[in-house]
Amino acid sequence: MIIVISGPSGVGKSTVVSRLLETMEGIDRSISVTTRKLRGDESDGVEYFFTSREDFVKIRDEGKLLEWAEVHGNLYGTSEEFVDGRLGEGRSVLLEIDVQGGMKVKARKPESMLIFIMPPSFEELEERLRGRETDDDEVIRQRLANANRELGYSSKYDYRVVNGDLDECVGEIRDIITSGSGVGR
Ligand code: 5GP
Repeated sequence: MIIVISGPSGVGKSTVVSRLLETMEGIDRSISVTTRKLRGDESDGVEYFFTSREDFVKIRDEGKLLEWAEVHGNLYGTSEEFVDGRLGEGRSVLLEIDVQGGMKVKARKPESMLIFIMPPSFEELEERLRGRETDDDEVIRQRLANANRELGYSSKYDYRVVNGDLDECVGEIRDIITSGSGVGR
């Protein structure tokens, strides 16, 4: 089964996804292709397959991506070969992707399970984003506008789970995945 997890920046998606993968059997995280530059401790082939814009466009135009989107000025895409490979081995694949990508997966693979992580409130999300002292006001303003836009898509997802308490959020998503697919049972 394909499991899509989306949610606005600052909602704690990566932490939730790491916890799910640590505690559930039979699920692999899809490693996306991106034109974004590597950050500090990232390595090619671990967080992403890092590539040039030219190569990204080439593989996209060859139809090798299940979905792709431009997020904050960089291109991101899911390799169809990667996903099909894991599904072929009888494993589930978890895609942590933005809402544009989520909608494309839903259109192409309607049997996928789409889960949206919600902040307890918009004010709480704003506080979390402002708490990241590395970002200046303009970046935060853009992230909040983007978060608002992403939240508008939440109703199109199969499930919405609030991340107020991390353990509860992870537990709820684990239950949704287990009851929907038998994965991790
Ligand atoms: P970051 O650069 O911070 O790792 O990710 C930025 C955004 O891109 C996040 O919202 C993440 O979910 C999204 N993203 C990562 N990989 C993909 C992908 O393969 N497809 C799409 N559509 N979005 C992605």
